[in-house]
Amino acid sequence: IKKQGHLEYFHPSATLDDIGGLDNLKKWLDRRKLAFSESAKEFGLEEPRGLLLLGLPGTGKSLAAKAIANAWQLPLLRLDIGKIFGGIVGQSESNMREALQLAETLSPSILWIDEIEKGLSGIQSSGSSDGGTTARVLGSFLTWMQEKKKPVFVVATANNIAQLPPELLRKGRVDEIFFVDLPTEQERQDILNLHLKKRSRQDNLNLFEIKEVAQLTLGFTGAELEEVIKEALFMAFDDGIDINFEHIKSAIAVTTPISMTMHELIDK
Ligand code: ATP
Repeated sequence: IKKQGHLEYFHPSATLDDIGGLDNLKKWLDRRKLAFSESAKEFGLEEPRGLLLLGLPGTGKSLAAKAIANAWQLPLLRLDIGKIFGGIVGQSESNMREALQLAETLSPSILWIDEIEKGLSGIQSSGSSDGGTTARVLGSFLTWMQEKKKPVFVVATANNIAQLPPELLRKGRVDEIFFVDLPTEQERQDILNLHLKKRSRQDNLNLFEIKEVAQLTLGFTGAELEEVIKEALFMAFDDGIDINFEHIKSAIAVTTPISMTMHELIDK
């Protein structure tokens, strides 16, 4: 991994098989997998331009961005857009230019813009408090999206659609917008199994127990389900035995999902 302030370049190890659920996204990606080849171009296929993944924190958006790079065997450049701002006059614009140029140099490549709303919030770009810097950075990014010379697939991830600049959501900017929702009961089963398997404990729970755990975890994100497994492992270690159904139920009892916290905040 090479890291340089706002830019990070890596070949991630996560695969699409590490993601529980998100079937629509997986299908979409599978269909476009070969679109970067010469034969695809000759056939008349257009290279995919990019997608926007929207959803609550911990629902697997970052995991998906990494898995796409792996599935398509393309280098991944992560841009921390909140960090490109600041410095001397013109520095933010030049940071953005540099990131886009690097993505083209690595092309075909994937440019993952994490928490895009943090940097390009529509609220900021329409205001004049930053002397128009945000608007200029956003403008140059959108122009590049339309006119880029080399294939760079942009994966933008965001938590909050309300803060996104409307220009980004306009048809034709990205190929597709995916709403990464809280997992369904079946998806929770898949995610729990994946994380148990990762720690070679998949057989510690039978089918009925996994189903019950999935039922008990309504409203949990993928990251929270992983937390439950990790917490249960601590409890099991403390008990001096291997992880079982009781540990997992106890771990659920001490985990409050973010979705619930948000409802509580809204109620108050
Ligand atoms: P943020 O908006 O905070 O960046 P995110 O949506 O990008 O959140 P991730 O960072 O991908 O969420 O999730 C954190 C971790 O939770 C992942 O590395 C993975 O271990 C686990 N996780 C989340 N969603 C899933 C899922 N659908 N399947 C398997 N694991 C998941």
